[in-house]
Amino acid sequence: MRTGRAAVMVGKDRLETWEVPVPEPEAGGALVRIVLGGVCGSDVHILSGEAGEMPFPIILGHEGVGMIEKVGPGVTTDYAGVPVKAGDLVYWSPIALCHRCHSCTVLEETPCENSQFFEHAEKPNWGSYADFAWLPNGLPFFRLPDHAQPEAVASLGCALPTVLRGFDRCGRVRVGDTVVVQGAGPVGLASVLVAAQAGAREVIVIDGSPARRAVAQRLGATSAIALDTDMAERRRMIYDLCGPHGPNVVVEAAGVLQAFPEGVDLTGNHGRYIILGLWGAIGTQPISPRDMTTKNITVSGATFPKPKHYYEAMHMSVRLQDKVPLAELVSHRFGINAAGEALAAVKSGAAIKAVIDPTIR
Ligand SMILES: [Zn+2]
Ligand SMILES: [Zn+2]
Repeated sequence: MRTGRAAVMVGKDRLETWEVPVPEPEAGGALVRIVLGGVCGSDVHILSGEAGEMPFPIILGHEGVGMIEKVGPGVTTDYAGVPVKAGDLVYWSPIALCHRCHSCTVLEETPCENSQFFEHAEKPNWGSYADFAWLPNGLPFFRLPDHAQPEAVASLGCALPTVLRGFDRCGRVRVGDTVVVQGAGPVGLASVLVAAQAGAREVIVIDGSPARRAVAQRLGATSAIALDTDMAERRRMIYDLCGPHGPNVVVEAAGVLQAFPEGVDLTGNHGRYIILGLWGAIGTQPISPRDMTTKNITVSGATFPKPKHYYEAMHMSVRLQDKVPLAELVSHRFGINAAGEALAAVKSGAAIKAVIDPTIR
């Protein structure tokens, strides 16, 4: 059988490069050659064990842009009805839907209860730190428009779908809103982009890295606050910018627990606080629950974007690729056998966005 390379996580903090079988696509599925495999902050948490025990050995990578190598029997279109053939570029949602579970059919929610995030590395596999991804039947993929830049679509990886999901579930940004974003990693940058595009009056980002703050401003942040300020100082600066009622929307995209009490405190009267980044940060934090009542605020979270959020993210990225420097967000590229270095660059914050590029040997 044909084989391809893959970065395989064999245990906590242990990555190896394997030659793994590349099976034929199944009916309804597709085999894609990876063009760019996105390196996500979640992958860092998975590698370090912070995200809990995983079914090792696994191929990391749930984000990607790939080129269709072969479609499975019966496949003539993508999951939005657009005709596809070998050679087309596609972007996908990494969770296959069964369409016959309570979440899929009754709640119309993700994730599907019968979905699997990981498969054993030697079984048919959709991990994207690899030469090929085998997309099973039910895993939604979408054809990139002809003029799309793959880097622009990959640059915000699963972060842009996550943010679109968050605003969909917890309330969209409206024209004239004042928005604070905690953290300028990919989820924070995507939040800035969506808020700015939605017509927010103020989009204020808080981050420790001058480089990431500068990128956030290029994506539409109106102000950027460094983390070497103290909480009271940050609050005063934000309330000066937003007015005495405070921000309408605060987005947690920091991924650190201490951001949570600060976010509750920052959220203005009748505002909402959307938790997106704490997926990999297990623990508790003290807050004053009375603040939620007296300020009449909503605190909510969201994860696992739906297929439509991937579709919207792809089209939003392509529409904006010539107006905002999305492709330039891809700051680091690594070959499959340098996956460990890619994850280190994300963990240290050196990378705005890192990708696996299988053509790098
Ligand atoms: Zn991701
Ligand atoms: Zn299901």
